[in-house]
Amino acid sequence: MNIESIQTYPLYHQIQEPYGDANGYKSYRSCFLICIRTVDGVEGWGECMDWHPYLEQSFQERIIPYLIGKKTTDRSQLVSTVRNWHHRAATGVSMALTEILARQAGIHICDLWGGIQHRQIPVYASFQSYTDRSDWIQHSLTQVERSLSAGYSRVKVKIGGRPLQEDMKHIEGVMQLTEGKVGLAVDANQSYDVSTALSWNRVFSKGDHWLWFEEPIPLDELSSYQLFRSRCYLPVAGGENLTGPTKFAPLIRQGALDIFQPDVAHSGGIGFYQDTIKMARHFGFRVSPHTYDGFLTRLYTLFCQACLSPWSKMAEESLEPVEWDVMENPFSTLISVQPKNGEVMIPEGIGTGVEWDREKLESFRLV
Ligand code: MG
Repeated sequence: MNIESIQTYPLYHQIQEPYGDANGYKSYRSCFLICIRTVDGVEGWGECMDWHPYLEQSFQERIIPYLIGKKTTDRSQLVSTVRNWHHRAATGVSMALTEILARQAGIHICDLWGGIQHRQIPVYASFQSYTDRSDWIQHSLTQVERSLSAGYSRVKVKIGGRPLQEDMKHIEGVMQLTEGKVGLAVDANQSYDVSTALSWNRVFSKGDHWLWFEEPIPLDELSSYQLFRSRCYLPVAGGENLTGPTKFAPLIRQGALDIFQPDVAHSGGIGFYQDTIKMARHFGFRVSPHTYDGFLTRLYTLFCQACLSPWSKMAEESLEPVEWDVMENPFSTLISVQPKNGEVMIPEGIGTGVEWDREKLESFRLV
């Protein structure tokens, strides 16, 4: 079946109160959707992340003219060509073509990938802890408390963006609030050197419900990660910005991480993302995916996790949690897939199994 048309949908939302991590504040949220339609009227949607004008130009001037008229069943070749031009755009194209294939076959996307192995996917509440407020710690604790009331049993908060003692005061507050009943991860966004990151061991030694320490030091220093991992009390996680399996391979060789955190949006296509998580599994590493920007990307992350072989023989720990952004991000409400008590149920049906709120989508569209 051949491609007849492709529409682009750049979405934008101004955040009411900027929030952030050690890399700074975010004042807006954005994502870029595409809809590929075949001559027979079958639609597939994709999502990609980059600067909107750059994506729009790439699609209008090069990607769309190339794809029009091509056979949707030549998915691998089409995605590979687009990847050579625009790595992140290839992710959106791969999503849309995958959905079209599933719709044509009359099956769910997960069925294309060998079938669902996990219907309920655990998720963790992911926070951008910093705000410009002088009482940012109290504000963060209030938000964490709200997520506990919503039933989350795992949370991730930010460190590395404030003086060490201030950050430690914040984390000790979170520990007090969660009373050891909730899994807790901290994310430094590559802010420390090895010795500063290791000073967190004295906080870690006070609790026993830790999930992981995420990207404590720059990820290109693999020998430092190896050293750090051997001395840190917590499992070490990272890799959200790495662009595919070849970038993760050195981390496996060096034994740099315990938990791999690839992001579909940075992967250059769903296929590359799945290569990465399967590779991690083959070598005995855990996979707790990063997925922050957008919402369709997160849905595909859930699908991939649903089809991943179990990590552990213990049923309660057989699957690692997926990141769930709990900050102000209205794109999340465009589809009905939402967590309940810290888990998301994979929707059944043809294709993605979800319906769109098209009216709401148009309200976020940047013209
Ligand atoms: Mg991170």
